[in-house]
Amino acid sequence: MPLHSDTFDLGGLRLSAGAGRRLELDVAIDRFELGGESYAVEPGVVPVTVDVSRTTGTGYALRLRFQATLTGPCMRCLSPATPTFDVVAREVSVPGEGDELESPYVKAGILDLRGWARDALALTLPTQVLCHADCAGLCPVCGADLNHTGADHAHPREPDPRWAKLAELQFEEPDALSAGGESAERREYRG
Ligand SMILES: [Zn+2]
Ligand SMILES: [Zn+2]
Repeated sequence: MPLHSDTFDLGGLRLSAGAGRRLELDVAIDRFELGGESYAVEPGVVPVTVDVSRTTGTGYALRLRFQATLTGPCMRCLSPATPTFDVVAREVSVPGEGDELESPYVKAGILDLRGWARDALALTLPTQVLCHADCAGLCPVCGADLNHTGADHAHPREPDPRWAKLAELQFEEPDALSAGGESAERREYRG
């Protein structure tokens, strides 16, 4: 088990103004609760790259980069999903220069790496965690996994005739159909 850092002492780098340093660190990122489901972050300890540049005085410009994978149920079909995300985040911390130059992750030269990495990953996450981008989801009628049943899965006897009508429309070309219908209608009016 490698050592990981929850925080990093930027002051300890003793960088002079304009100087920079690239850090390779390891950080644990807490699991996410999304849509009532739990998603662990893999690997358990994530290798991250932090580029630190000393600005003037006690200021820092920081860039964080890492790759992490979420593991948990697909939000459409409930089978295991393991999407991987490339995360890039930047922070500027120049204490005493106004709120916009204060970073919530830097306090007295100490970087809250764990908090920053988790927030940066959270901002990168899509609204839905999916097994793959075009997951077909579950059949709303019988709950079958439409990724496995194939595109022709259907229920011929629908209790509500309006749904049956909708299902029919999906097999026609709505654009071509409506355009054709419109022009035919116009011709009728002119005639
Ligand atoms: Zn899925
Ligand atoms: Zn079905």
